[in-house]
Amino acid sequence: MSGTVRSVLALGSNLGASRDTLVGAVAELADHHEVRLHALSPVVRTRPVGGPEQPDYLNMVLEVETSLAPLELLAHCQGVEEKYQRTRSVRWGPRTLDVDIITYGSLTSDDPTLTLPHPRAASRAFVLQPWAWMDPGARLDGRLVSELAAEAPDLLGLVPFEED
Ligand code: ADP
Ligand code: MG
Repeated sequence: MSGTVRSVLALGSNLGASRDTLVGAVAELADHHEVRLHALSPVVRTRPVGGPEQPDYLNMVLEVETSLAPLELLAHCQGVEEKYQRTRSVRWGPRTLDVDIITYGSLTSDDPTLTLPHPRAASRAFVLQPWAWMDPGARLDGRLVSELAAEAPDLLGLVPFEED
């Protein structure tokens, strides 16, 4: 791969066999000749933020190295979502798999199709805390991700995931 960029992706699932879905999604995301897995976070269990009453989520983040352009990477992520038959009927409702691009190098974009960094990442403990565990020195908008996580209102609803 030439001209690669590091990108942080966030995965979430709260329908079906969520743990298996996350493991499968990581494999599918890395199964592309222009994507290389660089780092993985632990999995966390989180209370849903907003939307209707729904089951807990499992969340994790990963860092990839890629030569895909930003919109190509988005299409790849959406292709993996489709494989898990995600339904988009209820906004912020339950989903088998959500894949969001949190950062793409240092690129910033206010395009609604791909907003970078992801506009809600800086306030979501379920993105920030696993990210800080994966990469303790990571920064977002000039702030340490670990500090942003400590300030996130949903941090108390997050625990490390343990198998039943
Ligand atoms: P959400 O992730 O906010 O719950 P969706 O996964 O349904 O909602 O995403 C809706 C739209 O958000 C997608 O069609 C996509 O084009 C757009 N989008 C904008 N910025 C991003 C980003 N950084 N990562 C992923 N999708 C994004
Ligand atoms: Mg999404």
